[in-house]
Amino acid sequence: MKNYDIVIVGASTAGSYFARRMAEKGFSVLAIDKSSREKISPEYDVFHMEKKDMEKYGLPKVKEGDGICEFIFSKQDMMSAYSNYPKAAPTEVVGMHKHDYIVLMNDWAAESGAEIIYEAAFDSLIYDENGKINGVTYEKDGKKVTVSCRLVADCSGIPAVVRRSLPDGYGIEKFELTPDDILYVVLRYVDFTEKKGRWLQSQFWLAYKSWLAPSAGSDAILGIGACFGFDYVEKCFKQFEKNARLPGYTVKKIEKGRTPYHRAPYSFVSDGFIAMGDAACLTKPNCGEGCTASLVLEQIAVDVASKAMENGAYPTREALWSINKLYNNTQGKEFASLMALLTGVVRHSPKANEFLFKHDVIFSEKILGGMGRELELSVGDMLKIVLFVLIGILSLNIKISEIRSILSGLINSGKLTEHYEKFPETPDGFEQWVNEAEILWKKAGKLSDWKPEL
Ligand SMILES: Cc1cc2nc3c(=O)[nH]c(=O)nc-3n(C[C@H](O)[C@H](O)[C@H](O)COP(=O)(O)OP(=O)(O)OC[C@H]3O[C@@H](n4cnc5c(N)ncnc54)[C@H](O)[C@@H]3O)c2cc1C
Repeated sequence: MKNYDIVIVGASTAGSYFARRMAEKGFSVLAIDKSSREKISPEYDVFHMEKKDMEKYGLPKVKEGDGICEFIFSKQDMMSAYSNYPKAAPTEVVGMHKHDYIVLMNDWAAESGAEIIYEAAFDSLIYDENGKINGVTYEKDGKKVTVSCRLVADCSGIPAVVRRSLPDGYGIEKFELTPDDILYVVLRYVDFTEKKGRWLQSQFWLAYKSWLAPSAGSDAILGIGACFGFDYVEKCFKQFEKNARLPGYTVKKIEKGRTPYHRAPYSFVSDGFIAMGDAACLTKPNCGEGCTASLVLEQIAVDVASKAMENGAYPTREALWSINKLYNNTQGKEFASLMALLTGVVRHSPKANEFLFKHDVIFSEKILGGMGRELELSVGDMLKIVLFVLIGILSLNIKISEIRSILSGLINSGKLTEHYEKFPETPDGFEQWVNEAEILWKKAGKLSDWKPEL
């Protein structure tokens, strides 16, 4: 039986990054993927990463014209429901062909010594006499192969095949995503009939969870996401198309995919185990992007796991625990807070959205530009919100129920931030923390609790 320090299940963005960094630390790493190298990550063509994140995490570089990089752009506007009052949210974004970039990331991981085996599907976990993970079985060419290891990383995406196969009581939630916990995303690669400047630059409409990204192979990629399935997404798209006053276009290609919209598991680690990427629901609550969102946890995991595994040590739940603490005190609390905020904030009509955008209230450059990061509102900011909310209600632009939802979003978001800050330093006190978190998430609700008739 072959022996590795680490076995990673899934070799897409999450798996490749962890493989590269742990191999660089001198560990023997095996990454298995059920796809062939030629077909890995075929779901959709173009994906985006912020350039500053690619630099921060030292990801392989691309440049326009290399066949992998599709388009680089930096101007982005958040738009009101009727495509008015743009709020600038500038950041340099790199659009890339996803399959080609994953292959590049695979080679980047292999360069540092990680072994990648394609067409190898995870079968089961192996446990030692104390019930702790110490290996993996996978299927390759119709045969079962068993390898031993000290740490298994689940990077298998939405199916979370390893996390969900863990025995009850292993210390990790085994939830499976239902259609209510998933954003169904449709991308339309379009050419506009009239080439107007504004339609060739990046824009985002919070009111419909839709966006336009510039593209090299067509004028733009029009994207939209919603819970409940692709039929419902199409209804949302019709509303978006009409209200946002899109110019005429022809569709060159349509792609569909799914991205998690569920809080992350309360703990990512247990004895000899860690979950990352979509398998741990690490997607940005405002747009569903997950490639760089996962790297925050992964970099913490690299630092903590490499210490926990020094000199042949077994990475126990206790030894890996600070991954939970460090993550939940940073991006974990920000994503929890943003998810609760958006759950309340999105429950309003296009009319209310237009009013709030117009008066730079709630949907202000300051708040929209700071999404996913801690936000400090001054007393003046708060007073302005209260004043314009009142004007909105009196002028019949906003309903009281809409304001109630927005306010409860703000309150739940603040409570979750505080709670995630108190994430326990050790597994002691975790159960109590989870019980309180459950109450807060119940109050916050889910995006899918609101399904406007379209
Ligand atoms: C239409 C669409 C557009 C998106 N656009 C963006 C974007 O622009 N930017 C962004 O950051 N995010 C985007 N996302 C989200 C992003 O695609 C995911 O968050 C990201 O791919 C998650 O990476 P991952 O490595 O965790 O999982 P995945 O990319 O899903 O990879 C999982 C890997 O595990 C393998 N696997 C699964 N089961 C097994 C098994 N049993 N055995 C072995 N291997 C297995 C799969 O073959 C796959 O290679 C988009 C999502 C969609 C649907």
